[in-house]
Amino acid sequence: MTYDLVICGGGPAGSSAAWRAASLGARVLVLDKAKFPRDKPCGDGLTPRAVASIGALGLENELKAFNRVEKLRVNGANRTLTFDWPGSDSFPDFGYVVARTDLDEMLLRHAADAGAEVREETPAWKPIVENGVVRGVTTKQGEEFRGSVVIAADGASSPIARSTGMVRDAKRPIGVAVRSHFEAKRPAADDAVIESYLELRDGEDLLPGYGWIFPMGNGRINVGVGILSTYKGWRDVNTAHLMDAFMRALPKSWELPDISSLRETGQLKGWRLPMGFCVREPWRPGVMAAGDAAGVVNPFNGEGISEAVESGVLAATTALKALGADGERGPSDFSSYTRDLDAIWGPYYRLGRTFVRLIGNPRIMRALTVVGMRVPPVMEFAFKLLANLYHEQGGSFGDGLVRAMLLAAKAIPIG
Ligand SMILES: Cc1cc2nc3c(=O)[nH]c(=O)nc-3n(C[C@H](O)[C@H](O)[C@H](O)COP(=O)(O)OP(=O)(O)OC[C@H]3O[C@@H](n4cnc5c(N)ncnc54)[C@H](O)[C@@H]3O)c2cc1C
Repeated sequence: MTYDLVICGGGPAGSSAAWRAASLGARVLVLDKAKFPRDKPCGDGLTPRAVASIGALGLENELKAFNRVEKLRVNGANRTLTFDWPGSDSFPDFGYVVARTDLDEMLLRHAADAGAEVREETPAWKPIVENGVVRGVTTKQGEEFRGSVVIAADGASSPIARSTGMVRDAKRPIGVAVRSHFEAKRPAADDAVIESYLELRDGEDLLPGYGWIFPMGNGRINVGVGILSTYKGWRDVNTAHLMDAFMRALPKSWELPDISSLRETGQLKGWRLPMGFCVREPWRPGVMAAGDAAGVVNPFNGEGISEAVESGVLAATTALKALGADGERGPSDFSSYTRDLDAIWGPYYRLGRTFVRLIGNPRIMRALTVVGMRVPPVMEFAFKLLANLYHEQGGSFGDGLVRAMLLAAKAIPIG
């Protein structure tokens, strides 16, 4: 059987693409190498943007079963600031923390309920390429899955995206992060607060990145650290040591375990964050990449779930439009996908890439941390910008400033 869409990867990007296409009546196959529920190294944090994008798939009510977060506490330069999530015209003023075992299974089952066929424990191995156009994928055992369009939603290591030529531009930044889950003796009220710590150090150097504590409810927390490749010595930074130092600075009363026990039991998990459109172009004839495979993580804050969902839906929409067209370009040309991604995130990601290059310099990182922590309105503005949550019309001075910066960034050519 030939499918309309063969989707490699059933994470947030693949499941959202599958849900969208199957809901519109397309014949969709999702292949994932894992058996679900499966874990994925992640902070498990859903920002208001993610709540909106998952809500748009029809799962708004299902999210209510998870831990809702309404505030952000930022720690740095010997100070602590607490903010409400900035609401906007398009996004709610709250988020959730959802273990990826639960979130990804929910998204994949939602796609199956919409009519997508799902094959777990089936790793795609190689693309089938005919006359320069990708027409499906094979497994290592030689099983063929043919589709008019293939979507590579196979995550940061992206075997199918890479073997079709969609590789990361090494000049663009990436993030690396590790995380673990704990039971912590913390005040119950803190279950509604996500926390970030701006001071991760390599010797004297203040690193571009942050440590986080994301509450999962009932005292369970996701703790992690992430840094950016814009710091010159980033390859030599041991993220497990960074996590160790971070955890040692947390209150003893939380009774967190020693990090060595986590490493022994494999509970400290890390991975890469391909960000800021680091994969150009995110399509080749017959195939599009979505989510981490397309490098669409937000460079400002490392958020990748809502970007995976949004790019997955966009890839599916683009594929179906191309399948419906009988123009000479046919379903193999997806240049509109690049343009549409750029319309959503282009100027913002161009600003983001500049920002992460700047904070790769420890002196600039220190100066911005001190100013932001001493002048709360500056940090409030930074939070709007970093979380990509601002009013598209009206709002505060900060909202207007974000809009002005994005307008200026539009003048920079696509790239
Ligand atoms: C430590 C860490 C913390 C993070 N914290 C957050 C956070 O708090 N909030 C947030 O929004 N983002 C966070 N991110 C980013 C976020 O996890 C990713 O951006 C997001 O998972 C991308 O979704 P995806 O569907 O593109 O890829 P994935 O979620 O990685 O899914 C890819 C799927 O493809 C499958 N696959 C891989 N290869 C094959 C193959 N050959 N054949 C078939 N299937 C295959 C995998 O099994 C997997 O199910 C974090 C990332 C890291 C590393």
